[in-house]
Amino acid sequence: MRCDGPLDETYYLMRLRQLLLCCLLTAFTGLLSSQAFAAVVPGVVSKSGAKLQVGALEWVAGNQDADFPTAHDAPWSWQPLAKPNLKKQRNGVWLRFSLDSASANSGRWYLSVKWPVLDAVRMRLFYPAKGEWGPLMRAGDYIPKRDQPLADHNLVFPLELRGDERAVVYMQVQAHELMALPLSIYDETGFAAEKIIDVAMISLFFGGMLVILLYNSSLFVFTRDTTYLLYVLYLLSALFYVLTITGFGQLFLWPDTPVFTRRFYALSAALCFFTPLLFASRFLKVRSYGGWPWLVTWVLMGYWAVVILVTLFAPSLGRYLMAEPVALVHCVLTMAAVINLWLRGNGSAKLFTIAWSTLLIATVVHLLALEGLLPLNALTLHGQLIGMFAEFVLLSMALAQRINQERDRRVLAQQSLLQASEALAHEREQRLQAQQQALAAQVRANEALEVRVYERTRALEDAKRGLELVNEQLTRLSVTDALTQLSNRGHFDLMIDEEIRRAQRTETPLSVLLLDIDHFKQVNDTYGHPFGDDCLRLVADTLRQYGQRAGDVVARYGGEEFVMALPGMNSHEAREQAERIRAAVAVLRPVHGEKRLELTISIGVATLQPPANCTPTQLLAATDTALYRAKHNGRNQVAVAKPDELFEPSVS
Ligand code: GH3
Ligand code: MG
Ligand code: MG
Repeated sequence: MRCDGPLDETYYLMRLRQLLLCCLLTAFTGLLSSQAFAAVVPGVVSKSGAKLQVGALEWVAGNQDADFPTAHDAPWSWQPLAKPNLKKQRNGVWLRFSLDSASANSGRWYLSVKWPVLDAVRMRLFYPAKGEWGPLMRAGDYIPKRDQPLADHNLVFPLELRGDERAVVYMQVQAHELMALPLSIYDETGFAAEKIIDVAMISLFFGGMLVILLYNSSLFVFTRDTTYLLYVLYLLSALFYVLTITGFGQLFLWPDTPVFTRRFYALSAALCFFTPLLFASRFLKVRSYGGWPWLVTWVLMGYWAVVILVTLFAPSLGRYLMAEPVALVHCVLTMAAVINLWLRGNGSAKLFTIAWSTLLIATVVHLLALEGLLPLNALTLHGQLIGMFAEFVLLSMALAQRINQERDRRVLAQQSLLQASEALAHEREQRLQAQQQALAAQVRANEALEVRVYERTRALEDAKRGLELVNEQLTRLSVTDALTQLSNRGHFDLMIDEEIRRAQRTETPLSVLLLDIDHFKQVNDTYGHPFGDDCLRLVADTLRQYGQRAGDVVARYGGEEFVMALPGMNSHEAREQAERIRAAVAVLRPVHGEKRLELTISIGVATLQPPANCTPTQLLAATDTALYRAKHNGRNQVAVAKPDELFEPSVS
C-alpha cells in the first residue's frame, strides 16, 4: 500500500486546533462529548420526491485482502460509526450501510464521498433479495479518473435501485492520511443542485485567490520587492493544496497521473508549511529582530525543505521524518514567534497574527463538523477554505498597509531630504556671499594697498630725488668756492694728487700756476670789502677763461690767491699761458665810482716733467717760491720755478 506521503496537514491542523480549543471551548465540547454520539447516517438529498431509507454506517478495521463476498459473509465485528472521521487507519476499513428504496419506481442515486484525497475506495452493492452483487466501482486519488465511475471532484458512485428494492452498500476504504468520511446520497436532481453549489463555492474561492494572486504578482513586477514574490509563492502553494484536497486538481488538471497525484497531497502540504515561513521571515523582517524567532524560522525552513526534497525524490524515507509531530510543533512555534514579534512592536506581526488565527478558527469549525459536533455541510466542510481565503485577504491588507507605511516613510524621507538640500543650498549661498564679501574686501584692501604702495613709492622717489639734489648741491658746495664759484682748495688738493699720478702714468707734463693779486689789502682798505669781493670775482672769471681744457683745474686757493693745474703743458707753454693771464688781468681795470683801478697779479709757475716726480706739497711749494720771487721782483710778473727748487731726484 502507499508508503510515501506521511504528511497530512489537515490532520496536524486538527490536532493543533484540538489543543487550542481545549482551553477556549472546554464547556462547549465537554457538554457535547459527554453525550454518546449517535451513529452516522449518510445524508440524503432528494429533490425529485423519490424516497430512500438509509441505514446507519457500520465499519470494521483491517481485512485489507478480503473480497466483497467475504465481507458480506464473514463474522466480522461490525460496529456503528459514531462520527464521520476515523483518523488514521493504515490497513484501511470496511464500511456498510443499507438502502431501502421506498419509491415504486426504479431510479438512480449517487453516493458522494466528499473527501477526495482518500487513496482508494472500492464499492459494490449487494441485493439481498436476489443474492446478487452489483458491479465493482473504484475511486480515489490512486485511481485514474478514467477508471472511476463518474468524473467528479468528489468520489462519486452511482447507485442503481429498482422500486421497493433493498440493497447493502459495501465499501473498502484505503487512506494513508486522515480518513474522513463525509458521505451523502443524492437523487439526480439533488446531485446536480449540490454540484452547482460546490462548483460555485470553489469558483468563488479560486476566483478570489486568483485576483489576490494577480494583484500581488503585478505588485512584484512593478515594485521588484521580493516580499510579493514570496507571498505569490505561498498563494500558489495554498492553491496547489486546495486543488488537491477538493479533488478539482485531480478532476481537471492531473486526472490520469496517479503516480504523481499520490505525492501531491504530501508535497502541497509541505509547501504550505515552507512557503509561508519564507514569506513571513521577509515580510516581518524576522532577521532584524533576531533572537529565538529567527532561529526557529531557520530551523523549520531547513526541515521543510528536506521534507519537500524527500517527498519528491525519496518518498519511501518520508516516514522517518516525523512530519506530523513537527507540523504540530511548527504551528505552535510560529504562532508564538509571530506573537513575540507583535509584542516587540512589529506592526505587521499584528495583522499577521490575526490572519493566521482566522485560518485556525475556520479550521476548528471544519474539525468540529468532522468530529460530528457541527453539521457536516458545504459550509463546515469548506470552512477551512473560507478561513484560508480570509487569511490571504488579511495578508494582502497587511501588504497594502506596508505599501502605505513605506510610501509614508518615503514621503517623509523625501521631505527631510528636501529640507536638508534646501538647508544645504542656503548654507552654500551664505558661504558664497561670505566668499564674495571676503573677495570684495580683499579687492578693496588690495586696491588700497596698491594706492598706498604707489603713494609711498612716489614719496620715496620724491625723497630720493630730493636727496640726490641735496647730495648734488652738497657735493657741489663741498668742492666750490662760494664767492667766485671756482673750485675750492680742498677740491684742488684732491685733483692735484690725481693729476700728478696721471702725469706719471701718461708721462705728460703737468704745470701748476699760483696767482696772487698785488696789494689787495690796499684795495680792500681803500674801497671797502664788498668792492674787494667784486674784484675777486672779476679776476676769477678771467682765470676761468684760461683754464677751460679738459683736465684744467682753476681754484681759489685762499684769500686773494688762486691756483691753476694745467695738465699736458710744459714749462714753456705754462709760462706763456701765465703771461697771457697776467696781461688779461692787468687790462681789467675795475671801476669804482669814477675811478679805474690798477689791478695786477703776480704768478708763480712750476712744471712737473715726468719721469721726474714730486709730491703735491713739493709742487705747490715750488710754485709758491716762484710766486714769492715774482712779488719780490716787483709784482705784476710771472716767475718760473727752477728745477732744483722743485724736484727730488728722478724715481726711475
Ligand atoms: P702783496 O702785494 O704783497 O700781495 O700785498 P697784499 O696786500 O696783497 O697782501 P696781504 O697779504 O698783506 O693782504 C691780503 C689782503 O687781502 C688782506 C685782506 O684784506 C684781503 N683779503 C683776503 N681775503 C679777502 C676777501 O675774501 N675779500 C676781500 N675784499 N678782501 C680779502
Ligand atoms: Mg697774498
Ligand atoms: Mg697779495
